[in-house]
Amino acid sequence: MKTSSLKRDYQICNRCVMDTSDPFITFDMDGHCNHCNYFLQKKIRHFKKKDNSRESLYDLFDNIKRQNSSSRSYDVLIGISGGTDSSSTLLLAQEAGLRILAVHLDNGWDTPISIRNINRLVSLKGVDYECEVLNWNNFKLLQRIFINSGLPDIELPTDIAILAAQNKFAIKHKIKTILTGGNISNEGILPAAWMYNVKDTLFAESVIKKSGHSKSLFKPIKFGFRDELKHRLIHKIKTLHPLNYYNYDKVEAKKELIKKIGWEDPVGKHCESTYTSFCQLIYQPKRNKFDYRRAHLSTDILQKRITRNQALEILKSDPWVNLDVESQLEFVAYKLGYSVLELKEIMSMPSKWYFDFPNRKRFLGMSYDIYRFLTGRNKLAQF
Ligand SMILES: [Zn+2]
Repeated sequence: MKTSSLKRDYQICNRCVMDTSDPFITFDMDGHCNHCNYFLQKKIRHFKKKDNSRESLYDLFDNIKRQNSSSRSYDVLIGISGGTDSSSTLLLAQEAGLRILAVHLDNGWDTPISIRNINRLVSLKGVDYECEVLNWNNFKLLQRIFINSGLPDIELPTDIAILAAQNKFAIKHKIKTILTGGNISNEGILPAAWMYNVKDTLFAESVIKKSGHSKSLFKPIKFGFRDELKHRLIHKIKTLHPLNYYNYDKVEAKKELIKKIGWEDPVGKHCESTYTSFCQLIYQPKRNKFDYRRAHLSTDILQKRITRNQALEILKSDPWVNLDVESQLEFVAYKLGYSVLELKEIMSMPSKWYFDFPNRKRFLGMSYDIYRFLTGRNKLAQF
């Protein structure tokens, strides 16, 4: 499918604020989009079991403790970025007395606030720490390849590297449970066109191959479907999402972190890294013509945290309005070896989408559906 064949008239959902900046969005007869329809189904299924207590969460932690004999050094591995969700996950597990190995991926873009937050978390009692530092020259080249590709997925190399690092340390320390901060409460909506799946290695390798580089560049951070099966079935490693075990509230979570460990708020969702704020607030809106805030604001509307009109009001201002765009561009360009002019030119070039590159979406979608069916899990919108 070619991008040009997807040109369509503008339409915005009349329940949330998702619109045709997602090239795959569909609307029903009432003008409601596929994203909020799916979210409400999933949310109803998920939240009808939850109340405001944290009983299910503590049951989960107790089970993990029981399953781990004292011969093992750790009960869980937790990936941390210094942001709210992963910090909260770690603090909850630490307070429950779990023995924790915290793992951080240093891709060269941490902000001083995220580093200070990580230091606060790993100095808590019962928490050990491993940090995976990527080879900067190799990783820089991967980031340039994804920027040059025209895809919005310029965070894909980081996201894969996080999965690879967590699983590597889980095997090294014989840890059977990985806890992540991922949660339905704040991340319920995210179109596949905006961020395609990190586990499709054919896709990532196609992007690298098309750039004229060897796909061996990808090897140090590779983590795909086959790796995941091996980790789950042979090493028996499972990944759990503790924040989905109660009514997780991000605002309350921040207050708790500040009060208990002097944590600092990185401000803005997922902006604990300079590259993430560049990606979501400058690069994607300018090159791929979508505003990542729409997905978060739509989730907020469905969660009744704001009204649709309030969200529309927020979207009237450009996503980069609170940033010093020129100095951020200068920083990113310098770090990745572009001139500011080159980077600006790249950002004005046409967008590409994952379906413009060879991928295994259909095969992986089916494989994950079968795997989830066989293991009694719910089918998901994305694999
Ligand atoms: Zn909608």
